Amino acid sequence: MTGADLAAIRKAAGLSQTELAQRVGIGRHAVSYWECRAKVERTAWAVERMAEVLNLPDAPVVLPVKMVFIDRRAQEMARQDALRLAMMQAVEAQLKAIKANRRVRCGAKTRKGTACRMKSEPGRRRCKFHGGKSTGPTTADGKARIAEAQRLRWARWRSERVKSCRAGP
Ligand SMILES: [Zn+2]
Repeated sequence: MTGADLAAIRKAAGLSQTELAQRVGIGRHAVSYWECRAKVERTAWAVERMAEVLNLPDAPVVLPVKMVFIDRRAQEMARQDALRLAMMQAVEAQLKAIKANRRVRCGAKTRKGTACRMKSEPGRRRCKFHGGKSTGPTTADGKARIAEAQRLRWARWRSERVKSCRAGP
């Protein structure tokens, strides 16, 4: 809206500059000031007062600068978060692949009493002769047996941990 627009709207309302100024409680010079401007600041205090009487076009909605800034920063942070997540997932996938193919020294106790020197099956800890190909027990009986063995193993581990805690450093 130009100053000329403002003057035209005022005149259409049948008001002089002085009358308009008095109605809304601003100085007459404020009215003439804005009517001489090329662009009327819709959000200026005096203009807002005039809008209480005149039917001025609405001010375009403009986000406060600070809000725009926060919004941009949030966008940037979200973008970086997504990037970081993608990178972490890529690294995780790589580690998983490495782990799945890793072959370690078997180390199972042999009949001679020494540690087995074979390489384990990929991604497993034992060689093909010492259970590296095993997919675990299948029968109910076998599953119960391994469950019991694990229970005993962890019980032993717990009691040993308690002992080493008591012994202290
Ligand atoms: Zn072995």
